[in-house]
Amino acid sequence: MKREIKYIVVHCTATPTTTTIKSIERYWKVTLGWANPGYHYIIERNGVLVNLLPEDEIANGVKGYNKNAIHISYIGGIDADGRPVDNRTDAQKRIMWEWLLLHQEKYPGATILGHRDFPGVTKSCPSFDVREWMKCWEKNNGQDLIAKE
Ligand SMILES: [Zn+2]
Repeated sequence: MKREIKYIVVHCTATPTTTTIKSIERYWKVTLGWANPGYHYIIERNGVLVNLLPEDEIANGVKGYNKNAIHISYIGGIDADGRPVDNRTDAQKRIMWEWLLLHQEKYPGATILGHRDFPGVTKSCPSFDVREWMKCWEKNNGQDLIAKE
């Protein structure tokens, strides 16, 4: 069944950068007991985009909003002490940018948000301001000014 997509949501895995998708999937399934993944897509450190769930199925990204949301995450988002940090690699930023543009086109009525932009969310996921970052990249045609500041 086709879903109405209202939100395109960006996440971080909030794990060490060395964490594998397999271990994240195991955590969802075994520890949390979820039938479906937390996100539809994960971007690995080298920029490889992995699809974990068809877009018409419901993932567990943001409680209360999942019925109308598509979720993408990057591996990373915390430093060695577990504090939020935007440690996306250039490859991850590039793929994230392209994926967001593509999906904005695919779901023109949808709003792109970070997990933390939803009401009542106290975590800092995805560890950067998605709308600011997108504005910045839009202005500069997909160039990364953030890292050079
Ligand atoms: Zn999140």
